[in-house]
Amino acid sequence: MHIKPENFDQYTFSKQPDYLESEVRKEFAKAVPLRTVVVYCYDPRVTGIPEAVAKEFDDVFPGEVILDDDGNKVGSTTTVFEVIVAGGRAVDAMRSVTVAQHLFGIKNIVVVHHTNCGATSFTADGIIDAYKQEQGSDISNIYERESMCISDYSASLGHDVSLLRQSPGTPKQADIYGYLYDTDNGGLTKIVEDLA
Ligand SMILES: [Zn+2]
Repeated sequence: MHIKPENFDQYTFSKQPDYLESEVRKEFAKAVPLRTVVVYCYDPRVTGIPEAVAKEFDDVFPGEVILDDDGNKVGSTTTVFEVIVAGGRAVDAMRSVTVAQHLFGIKNIVVVHHTNCGATSFTADGIIDAYKQEQGSDISNIYERESMCISDYSASLGHDVSLLRQSPGTPKQADIYGYLYDTDNGGLTKIVEDLA
């Protein structure tokens, strides 16, 4: 591995000479009026999910980037942040939820799974066996089985909503929802909700 010996401190908030963590955090909170974090799949057919969720929750997406007088990008009008992960599974989104709450504050967490998702095409046993054969790696203990694939949408959405609710890193005031998105017609159906 090669790392260029350059100094990138000028781009790091915490390396500035007058850095004060609490003040920087206040500025961040003002930069984006975040309300809703949407967790969904990286399948290129479902890029319409954040827009559909924004419509459902009366949110602003994608919004516009806000420039200061010097043309620097200093904020956005969006109220939606996307967390895009395989299958839209909550296990991969939890740290992002924690950070989004810390910097901007969250009202809603919306987990969206979608029809004909690739995550429904394999089983936990199947991916564990394939990794053993093809990579010589044992992945059976690094992810919980319930989060590895999707075999039942009600079960996967219910699992993910409760996984988020049980996490100490999830803000207590957040309402958490599980939706199924129709990959072909873009329809959203609410399957589960857990209001704060
Ligand atoms: Zn998918």
